[in-house]
Amino acid sequence: MFWVTVCAMYSIQGCACEAPMRTLIYPEWLIDGTGGRAKEAYALAFEEGSIAAVGPANEITSSQQDVVVRAPGMSLLPGLINMHAHLSLASDNAPFIAYMNAHSDVALGLRAAHNAAASLRAGVTAIRDCGSRGRSVLDLIGARSDGLLKIPRILAAGCALTISGGHMRPFGGEVDGVDGCQQMVRRLVSAGADFIKMAGSGGGTPGSLTDYPSFSVSEIEATVETAHGLGRRVTVHCTATAAIQRALAARVDSLEHGYFGAPGNFQAFDQRLADGLAEARISVTPTLQVFRDMAEVLPAGAERDFWQSRREVLVTNAARLRRAGVRLTAGSDAGWRFTRFDNYWRELEEMHGCGMSPIDVVHAATGAAAEAIGRQDEFGALRAGLSADLLLVEGNAAESIRALQSVRSVYLEGHLVHQEGMS
Ligand SMILES: [Zn+2]
Repeated sequence: MFWVTVCAMYSIQGCACEAPMRTLIYPEWLIDGTGGRAKEAYALAFEEGSIAAVGPANEITSSQQDVVVRAPGMSLLPGLINMHAHLSLASDNAPFIAYMNAHSDVALGLRAAHNAAASLRAGVTAIRDCGSRGRSVLDLIGARSDGLLKIPRILAAGCALTISGGHMRPFGGEVDGVDGCQQMVRRLVSAGADFIKMAGSGGGTPGSLTDYPSFSVSEIEATVETAHGLGRRVTVHCTATAAIQRALAARVDSLEHGYFGAPGNFQAFDQRLADGLAEARISVTPTLQVFRDMAEVLPAGAERDFWQSRREVLVTNAARLRRAGVRLTAGSDAGWRFTRFDNYWRELEEMHGCGMSPIDVVHAATGAAAEAIGRQDEFGALRAGLSADLLLVEGNAAESIRALQSVRSVYLEGHLVHQEGMS
């Protein structure tokens, strides 16, 4: 059961009322996104887009002016962060190069807006775009702040840096050498990139070599130094053990995928590298959902078996990273292959399969993710002063990860942007 009681005289979210309007939410369980246990009989108050108070329900009392949301049987948690997505891609396993050739930047931007809106309905209030062409995703940031689009916060890398002939080159980020890397970082920051993404190895782009490293340590170091000098963090796509080794040597901020591959060997896990990542506090977004989706969408046969066996290896390796003390953050690689934007719970369920408790998974998708991108003082937890980016889901999300499949309401900066039944 779910109801909203409006105490004030006909006041609704987003109205032009002059009196400041406070909203109080009374859920059954409150999960604050810090990794701490779920709290019962707690409440949260927000006003003017920010969380005003979180505390025992009997201490957060309503006045006549307040909007009161009672949510028995539901969990309240911070809006989710998807750390890895490609908003301009179509989740249809289309051949990547042909897809990019067939679409203008405007078409890609429209696709990105559509996908961003779908993410919001899945409870995602911040999404990190890890590679797109031109301004196709960067321009969504301005469109959102101008009020044209009801979409999550977007943190965009623009095109990812890649070597000549490398992975993701259709996005337009081919560079070589220290000078080339420095120049591209400066251009991307000038264009509005929130962070820098590098392809540290090949990947799913034909002609790139998944099991081999790409940029040299000195190229990665120059990228990190230039980006940090401009206040930006660097994350590196790594699907090869040798790429992880180079990224670690160059002291990057985070890794995407973190797969331990070597030529002819998908299981080249290296415990010393895992320990090194933990020691250097380099977080990893393991992007597991793509393999699950491929294994479940493809018809029975050798190709499906291939993806299923890789899925199992990756879940095992992510669990090993975690045991080594590496912080895992949640991101689905939505857009890529068959991975969609409206079912982020599938990535979170895969992380649960790595031995993480539901509370740990929520942390990986909220507070830990916000910390990994340096935004923990803005959003990612239920704490007074942070943005009111909130999610109500059916059931106890501390007990069952499946609760995250049942999104009932999503608030972004204090605005109710999605409610079950809303289109
Ligand atoms: Zn990706």
